Order: sequence, then C-alpha cells, then structure tokens
Amino acid sequence: MGQIYDVIVAGGGPAGSAAARTAAMRGLDVLILDKSPFPRYKPCGGALSLKALSMLDRPLPPQVLERKITGARVHYRDLVAERHKGYEITWLINRSAFDQHLLEKALLSGARAMTEKVLDFRDSGELVSVQTKEGIYKSRFLVVASGCQDALKKKIAGPESRESMGLCLVSEIETEEERIVESLGSALDIHFGVAEGGYGWIFPHRGYYSVGIGGLSSSLPHPRQAMRRFLRENGFPEGSRISGHLIPQGGNRRRVARGRVLLAGDAAGLVDPFTGEGIYYALASGRMAGEMVGDLPAAIVARSYESRIEKELGRDLRYALFFSRIMHSHPSIFLRTLAREEKVLERYLEVGAGQMSYRDFMLWLLPRLPLSLMRAGWV
Ligand SMILES: Cc1cc2nc3c(=O)[nH]c(=O)nc-3n(C[C@H](O)[C@H](O)[C@H](O)COP(=O)(O)OP(=O)(O)OC[C@H]3O[C@@H](n4cnc5c(N)ncnc54)[C@H](O)[C@@H]3O)c2cc1C
Repeated sequence: MGQIYDVIVAGGGPAGSAAARTAAMRGLDVLILDKSPFPRYKPCGGALSLKALSMLDRPLPPQVLERKITGARVHYRDLVAERHKGYEITWLINRSAFDQHLLEKALLSGARAMTEKVLDFRDSGELVSVQTKEGIYKSRFLVVASGCQDALKKKIAGPESRESMGLCLVSEIETEEERIVESLGSALDIHFGVAEGGYGWIFPHRGYYSVGIGGLSSSLPHPRQAMRRFLRENGFPEGSRISGHLIPQGGNRRRVARGRVLLAGDAAGLVDPFTGEGIYYALASGRMAGEMVGDLPAAIVARSYESRIEKELGRDLRYALFFSRIMHSHPSIFLRTLAREEKVLERYLEVGAGQMSYRDFMLWLLPRLPLSLMRAGWV
C-alpha cells in the first residue's frame, strides 16, 4: 500500500491553508491538493477584517497589505454618512499574494502541496480515498476546503438551494494613487440599494479600485447588467473585466462533517450574510479542522468539529442573518437608519472589526430602533 497521509486537504485557499498549516504544525502528514497553480486569481473585494488579521502571524508581507482602512462611507439613495474609528478596522489586501503567502506558510510548516483537482472521494470508515486524474491518495481524514463552486461538499452537506446563496461580482480598476487617496482615503465606500439583499462597494486598494456588487442570487437575475450599471453610475468604464461567483449565505444550518470528512470555509457555508465577509470564517474553520483531525475516533472528531463550528461561528452567523433580514426586509426604513444614524454605523463598524458580536450589536440596536426610526422620520 502507498503512503497514507494523516490528512488530505482539498483546496489551498485560506481555509485549506489554515487547516494544513495547523495540522502540519502538530506533526501530522499533510497533503494539499489544489486544482490551480498558485499564485492564482480569486475574485474578491480584498477586505481583511481586524478579526481575520488577528488570526495571522504579523507582520504580513508588504506585497499583501495595500491600505489601512479606518472607516466607511455609506450611501442609501440621497443619504451619505461617513464614520471613522481612530484605528484600523480592516486592511485591503492583494488577494492572490495573500493566498500565496498562506500556502507558503503551510508548506513551511511541513505540509506538501500538489496541483491536482480532486474529482471524488470515498470514506471507507477506516480511510478516505481521494481521487484525482493522476491517481488515488489515501488519508485518515479529508478536509474539503474547495470553496463554494465545487461539488465535493455536496457529498457531506447535500444539495443547496440557489435561494439561499449570494452572488458577488467584482472588477479591479487601475487608477492613479493620488485620485484614490483623494476620493476615498481610508474609507470603504458602500452603496445600499444597488442589489436586493446586498450592496455595491468601491474599495480603495493601492493603485486600483475594487468595484463590486453582491446580493441574493435570486434577486440578481441579470448580475452582469446590474454590475455594468453600478460601474457606469460611479464613473467607471462599463467594459471593465468582471469576475465573480456564488457565495454561501451563512447562518443557515448545514452539515459540516460526516465520518472522516470535514468541510471548512465557503465549502462549509461560512460567510457573513450581511457583508459577504468569508476570509475570517475560512481561516477560523480551517484552523479548527486542523486542530481536530488526528488520533481521536472519526465519530468524535466529526461531532466535536460540528459543535465547535456551531458554538464559535454558527451562532453569531445566525444573528448576522437575522440582522441582514431585518435590514433588507424594509430597506427604505432600515438602511436609511444605518445611513442616517451615525451612532448605528459607528457601532456596526465595531462588528466588522470583530470587537462586537452580531448578538451584542442586535441587543444594543433593537431597543434603539424605534427612536432611530422616529429620528429618520418614519414613525
Ligand atoms: C466577488 C467576491 C468578493 C469577495 N470579497 C470578500 C472580501 O472583501 N472579504 C472577505 O473576507 N471575503 C470576501 N469574499 C468571500 C471570500 O472570497 C471567500 O469566503 C473565501 O475565499 C473562502 O475561502 P476558502 O478557502 O473557503 O475558499 P477559496 O478561497 O474559494 O479557495 C478554494 C480553493 O479550492 C480550489 N479548488 C476548487 N475545487 C477544487 C477541487 N475539486 N480540487 C482541488 N482544489 C479545488 C480552488 O482552486 C481554490 O484555490 C468575496 C467573494 C466574492 C465572490
């Protein structure tokens, strides 16, 4: 029999690299299989929240970090509000350099990586056989971290309705640095009302803007048209290259482990349903998977992983989903409140920075909503 790995990781994005690195640091034999050679392009706004940053070794290489963000400018129809914290809440990163850096960290910790697409896997109860075009690899555990688009996760989580998916599209538009600094400085530019259940964004990266839209997939029947409109309305060339894909809507209950197979990151459905933030959840779930695989019986690993995901990430994502539904249920009332009530926006920035949970934010917000609505002229 050939080599038996302790763990194979399908996908070398943030979730896969975090899982591989954590397991390799524990002395396990780890193989990462990714279908693409790195560095690879990944459609992304490139916003790395403070809570995501806090999970990484500092400093990050200079080619990864592009701009420090201290606040947000929020637009809703005729309203514009801008709030800043006196400190960094997010960094804008070069996503392909970031993923390359995380993968290198995993390799430095002892993981191996090969450019092969995982076509299928079979869990015999004792071992997992992982099939690629080149052959079959065996391991004691498999972490599926192959993102949202890939079908492998369905063998564990089952099919997912398109209704519960988000969709994000993005263009990177090169612009002179002075113009970027002058127009946005250190603020994220967020436009509500552009896509139902979501928003448009203009992020000031180093030497380019990331311009994108995201929303519920069911409410974006012509996503490219919506994206072109957003580009046009904000003075960007309509013909810009557009990339993107479906993203899961976190907060819905999903199965994330079965037998010897654990799902992490987008494959586990872990994305903030209001902001679309997924990198933090990918890093956190990947790290958890890497901590849990090993010597314990598979049934205990699967059960413990499911309950940790629920406790440490799932619960708060459910509050995020609740918040998102409230905000988008009557957008002209609630998004107006967010755009008009500077205190609400300021507190929300603390959620984005990871200093406040969605639960605490909701508990803070709900008693204040009637007053906020009154001030906004709605009650
Ligand atoms: C347009 C857009 C903008 C976004 N902006 C942000 C943002 O600003 N901030 C943020 O936090 N999140 C953002 N997200 C979400 C974020 O990109 C994801 O949540 C994050 O990439 C999830 O990481 P992951 O490791 O789970 O998956 P991915 O990063 O998707 O990595 C999956 C990896 O698996 C590989 N793979 C796929 N199938 C296979 C297979 N069968 N075999 C082997 N390898 C395979 C892929 O090549 C890829 O390298 C955005 C998403 C989109 C679409």
